[in-house]
Amino acid sequence: MIRIAPQQGGWLEVICGPMFSGKSEEMIRRLRRAEIAGQRVVIFKPRIDDRYDASDIVSHAGIRMRAVPVSSVGELTARTHGFDVVGIDEVQFFEPSIAGAALELADRGARVIAAGLDRDFRRLPFGPMPELLAHAEFVDKLQAVCHRCGGPATTTQRLVDGRPAPYSGETVLVGSAEQYEARCRGCHEPGADAALAAA
Ligand code: ADP
Ligand code: MG
Ligand code: ZN
Repeated sequence: MIRIAPQQGGWLEVICGPMFSGKSEEMIRRLRRAEIAGQRVVIFKPRIDDRYDASDIVSHAGIRMRAVPVSSVGELTARTHGFDVVGIDEVQFFEPSIAGAALELADRGARVIAAGLDRDFRRLPFGPMPELLAHAEFVDKLQAVCHRCGGPATTTQRLVDGRPAPYSGETVLVGSAEQYEARCRGCHEPGADAALAAA
């Protein structure tokens, strides 16, 4: 595949895939290279995701990079001034207006790199991802390794107490153990109420 970045102006890159597919790792790799090229780089993440560290993005393999936690799309936009490259990790958690904000940044000349889950554990498109994917100049859909069979995993399996999580209800009861796995299409197990959710 030949990839040629525009000579002038900005653009939008989206990195998507299930959990453990290396989205954060790939984001960090791209931003480090931009830093080496002397570009001014910033990376944002939604404040709700404070896994591991409040102000770093950390990959599952422990690779990390300083990130600015923001509570809203407005706050993100307000803090982008003067940067050539704007990374947004866990972009699926932002409000729908993140897509328009990303495009505006690109229109103003920034290279915008958005990384996030394309689908939730029910395999439904996640929040603003469809819009971002449709508008992006460049899209990469990464695969993880299926926890079950070792094949290429494209879905995220949510487990509660070791069983496929029900599709209805986001909250996990106190005292029960929640866990996520990468799974391939064949190994993905729908929640017991999946038929209800699809109806
Ligand atoms: P993402 O941001 O997509 O959740 P990360 O970049 O945080 O992914 O983590 C990717 C890293 O996670 C891999 O390089 C690997 O070291 C580790 N890893 C753990 N479990 C898996 C898995 N099932 N498939 C692929 N990588 C995995
Ligand atoms: Mg990640
Ligand atoms: Zn599998």
